[in-house]
Amino acid sequence: MTGAGISAESGLPTFRGAGGLWEGHRVEDVATPRAFARDPDLVLRFYDARRRALATVEPNPAHRALARLEAAWEGPFLLVTQNVDDLHERAGSKRLLHMHGELLRARCTRCGWADRWSGDLLGVACPACGRLPALRPDIVWFEEIPIGLERIEAALADCRLFAAIGTSGRVWPAAGFVERARRAGAHTVELNLEPGEASDRFHEQRFGPASRVVTAWVAELLAGR
Ligand code: NAD
Repeated sequence: MTGAGISAESGLPTFRGAGGLWEGHRVEDVATPRAFARDPDLVLRFYDARRRALATVEPNPAHRALARLEAAWEGPFLLVTQNVDDLHERAGSKRLLHMHGELLRARCTRCGWADRWSGDLLGVACPACGRLPALRPDIVWFEEIPIGLERIEAALADCRLFAAIGTSGRVWPAAGFVERARRAGAHTVELNLEPGEASDRFHEQRFGPASRVVTAWVAELLAGR
């Protein structure tokens, strides 16, 4: 499972990094259904800026290492990311689940239409029903239900090796996955810049920038096969 930390070295700031803010905004002001109801323009502008920023960044060695691991891995593999960027797929990951949605998708709050979306959303009518305002980013906000939980639960129940990479362990239910994996008998590894909230729940910890620790960990795994 990956979190915002794996994309930090690509130039995408993490969520809580500087004083609990995401690009200068309080989470409650940009990443909740209530925020969208109160000030949709602010929220759309915020995500339009995040989406535009994607065009200026590239996957880093940690994203690429996970794509190599997947390609070489014999047996079931699932990369669950909390990230809304597309750096894993650009690095070549295939068995990938965006549990918090994707910046490059939009959906209509009026008619339910949803599809890939690469432009801005502010001031744009729904391509299906024509209503405005209606579109929102296809992102899972706080208080909303993550995508693919059944598939994730099934993978955790059958898990032998669980790694949490670049995640603070503050966002639920993702923060609880380590416990599920442990219960299934998995070896659990935290790869993070610094200890996350659930650090003591992992069998093994490796601290440092993802580009270094993930690359080294993947190389070890592949060498030991
Ligand atoms: P978080 O911001 O709460 O925590 C980031 C974690 O990454 C921290 O533990 C930090 O120590 C670590 N980190 C920072 N730089 C690192 C580096 N170079 N190498 C390794 N680790 C590093 O992130 P979260 O736990 O993913 O939760 C935040 C939520 O915010 C997610 O749900 C996600 O949807 C959203 N978010 C996504 C992006 C993105 O898509 N790139 C960016 C910001 C926030």
